[in-house]
Amino acid sequence: MSERGLILVVEDEKPISDLLRLYLQREGFGVHAEFDGPSGLTAARTKHPSAVVLDVGLPGMDGTEVCRILREEGNWVPIVFCTARDDEVDRILGLEMGADDYVTKPFSPREVVARVKSLVRRAGLTGADDAPLTAGRLSLDTTQRRAYVAGAEVTLTATEFDLLARLMSDPGRVLSRDQLLSEVWGYASVVGTRTVDVHVAQLRAKLGEDSPIRTVRGVGYSCEVDRS
Ligand code: CA
Repeated sequence: MSERGLILVVEDEKPISDLLRLYLQREGFGVHAEFDGPSGLTAARTKHPSAVVLDVGLPGMDGTEVCRILREEGNWVPIVFCTARDDEVDRILGLEMGADDYVTKPFSPREVVARVKSLVRRAGLTGADDAPLTAGRLSLDTTQRRAYVAGAEVTLTATEFDLLARLMSDPGRVLSRDQLLSEVWGYASVVGTRTVDVHVAQLRAKLGEDSPIRTVRGVGYSCEVDRS
């Protein structure tokens, strides 16, 4: 039943939770459901899910708090946030949250499943045949999916890593936001290109002056990479 991995669904609205379970199971995922923040946090720690669908408004503990604690503990399981409020999106995607993706309510279960599949697929990708990508003091180990600046590891979310790796794997080439959305996120750009900008801003905040990402005004982003 769970050959594709276990998905933790933390959502206090039972009908939505049931619907997500149905759609995820139909895609071959195992599903573990929790209905409040503290139980969701415990399950994320102990069940080792492949991804978490995390509601923001939860009894006991906010979904954003659950995410913050997990990240503090060094748990970088891919997280898709569900929010009922559009004005929460920037906060969710903000640097301190470490969210990988989000959907706004009302959402279609199909949409959520597409996000989960994309995240799980990307998290499972390894580039065993790929040499590290480097730019100045920044180095990406695409096999281990780890990023280093001057030898010190920088912790990136799955999405941040994939976005950076995509840009660094095509040095000098300008990629549009739509292109990045479809190639990195793996679905059509219905969520809007703001998602790309927010993740680029997060990468820049984490990497500081070692960020190789260049904004090409009116076009998109590119990356300067050493070709050694
Ligand atoms: Ca809720």
